[in-house]
Amino acid sequence: MTAISLGMPDVPTKLADRRVSRKIHVGSVPVGGDAPVSVQSMTTTRTSDIGATLQQIAELTASGCQIVRVACPTQDDADALPVIAKKSQIPVIADIHFQPKYVFAAIDAGCAAVRVNPGNIKKFDDQVKEIAKAAGDAGTPIRIGVNAGSLDARLLAKYGKATPEALVESALWEASLFEEHGFRDIKISVKHNDPVVMVNAYRQLAAQSDYPLHLGVTEAGPAFQGTIKSAVAFGALLSEGIGDTIRVSLSAPPAEEVKVGLQILESLNLKPRRLEIVSCPSCGRAQVDVYKLADQVTAGLEGMEVPLRVAVMGCVVNGPGEAREADLGVASGNGKGQIFVKGQVIKTVPESKIVETLIEEAMKIAEQMEKDGVTSGEPVVTAAG
Ligand code: SF4
Repeated sequence: MTAISLGMPDVPTKLADRRVSRKIHVGSVPVGGDAPVSVQSMTTTRTSDIGATLQQIAELTASGCQIVRVACPTQDDADALPVIAKKSQIPVIADIHFQPKYVFAAIDAGCAAVRVNPGNIKKFDDQVKEIAKAAGDAGTPIRIGVNAGSLDARLLAKYGKATPEALVESALWEASLFEEHGFRDIKISVKHNDPVVMVNAYRQLAAQSDYPLHLGVTEAGPAFQGTIKSAVAFGALLSEGIGDTIRVSLSAPPAEEVKVGLQILESLNLKPRRLEIVSCPSCGRAQVDVYKLADQVTAGLEGMEVPLRVAVMGCVVNGPGEAREADLGVASGNGKGQIFVKGQVIKTVPESKIVETLIEEAMKIAEQMEKDGVTSGEPVVTAAG
């Protein structure tokens, strides 16, 4: 059916076309090109503790993480890689600093990719030819991960500090060493703890190359600060189409990083939405405790995979409008809640019954969605006043 324009402006569903980058494959997950932006995290266990590491990877997988990185600072960690790479449900990247021999170990172990840091693995430059050959033969991509805190001494001397130019030069220099040996299966990160420097570095890198980019604000801080920094920096870049895979770094359990990463992508319509609670901030007009109601509804629906949009509104000003736009909603007032399903008021319940009624109705809609095979939502743009 041809859409007929009724004179209404189209609502854009994305902020920018993705930058055209070359595509690589981190195990089963494509990164770059037309592949969706993926979310990754890093384990906090000792990698040599295989049981604990696999347990954390299982938790990360359950939280939606698509790629996981494990640190490999010792021989014991390197020895654990074959089992971890084999048993992990998602592709495993070995994170190597200082010891080039572990790069070979990680490739042999069947890791989906290896991350190296050009700033602290200088010995590595002499072995690029061998590493390029081993990685090329095994089909193992390499992430060149430049970090402001461990910038190559030569570039630190040249630029005085970790400027965007210094980060980019370091990354592109290292990449050129691999390219000289015909190895092109590379992705790059240029992380800094200052979102402004980081955004500028990635912009420059994006303009100068077609490498797929792994976005990260390094040492972003505790959960609240790190979430804001990452959302701001990733938002700026992703809204320009820059970024192919993301890692939110928080001083918090890694599953929290994944939650934040997924939410950033969902907010930018770069990932189909799942459960979304549209709740008002409350104000002097509220006739119900909106915070409590929103928390209770969120807790009651936690883990729901279908793209349900639930509106929890404090009064009748925006309440009925928002509630009608959602799959399910409540507009509260006068000690009661009007429950809407797909735009229709289906019942009015006393305030004490709002939460249980919403959860009950949500379950019914979710069940129907699952029967209909709806497991993820089309990205939609919504605006709530
Ligand atoms: S919906 Fe009502 S209570 Fe909530 S912020 Fe808007 S006016 Fe205030």
